[in-house]
Amino acid sequence: MRVGVIAIQGDFEKHVNALRNCGVSGLEVIEARTPEDLASVDRAIIPGGESTTVGLLMQRYGMGDALKSAAQDGMPIWGTCMGMILMAQTIVGREQFSLGLLNIEVRRNAFGAQINSFEDEVKVVGLDEPVLGVFIRAPVVSKINEPAEVLAKYRGHVVGVRQGNLLGTSFHPELTDDTRLHRYFLEI
Ligand code: GLN
Repeated sequence: MRVGVIAIQGDFEKHVNALRNCGVSGLEVIEARTPEDLASVDRAIIPGGESTTVGLLMQRYGMGDALKSAAQDGMPIWGTCMGMILMAQTIVGREQFSLGLLNIEVRRNAFGAQINSFEDEVKVVGLDEPVLGVFIRAPVVSKINEPAEVLAKYRGHVVGVRQGNLLGTSFHPELTDDTRLHRYFLEI
C-alpha cells in the first residue's frame, strides 16, 4: 500500500509520521506534490493548513483535477481540517476553491480565531473509546446530506464525516500519538 500526503502547505509531515507509526507492514508513505506523485499512490491525505492558499495552488498545478478524478475512481481520501474544507461541496460565506467531493457544507473558523484553539474528547463512530480532538481554527460541518454520514460529533456539532471511501475531520489526529484514525483510514 502506498499513501500520498498532499504536501503543498500545512502539517503534512505530521501525517507522514503518524502513518509511519501505524505499524502497518509494507506501507509506503510519500509527500505528493504533483499529479504524477498522486498517480503513484493508492490513497491520499490532505492535511491541515490554509485552505485559500492551498486551493489556489491546487488549481494552478493540476492537483485539484487530479484529486477529483482519483476520488471518482474510488481512491480513499481523508482531509483533516483544511483538508475537509477543500473536500466540501460548499464553504459558507466565501468564494474559494473546493474539490466538491463531500456532500457537506462547512463553516470555517467556526470555533473562533487561533486563540480559541482547543483540545477535547471526541466520540467517533466505530471506535470504542473517544479520541483527543485537536481543534485549530477548526471548521464545523454546518450541513450534511446523503450519501455523506456523520463520523464524529462534538457538543452537537458534526466534526467528522464519511462518504464511501472519503473521510473528513475538523480536528487533527496527526497531532496526537493516537493512530486509531489513521489505521481506520488505511483499512478502507
Ligand atoms: N482555518 C483554516 C482554513 O480555513 C484551517 C485551519 C487548519 O487546517 N488547522 O483553511
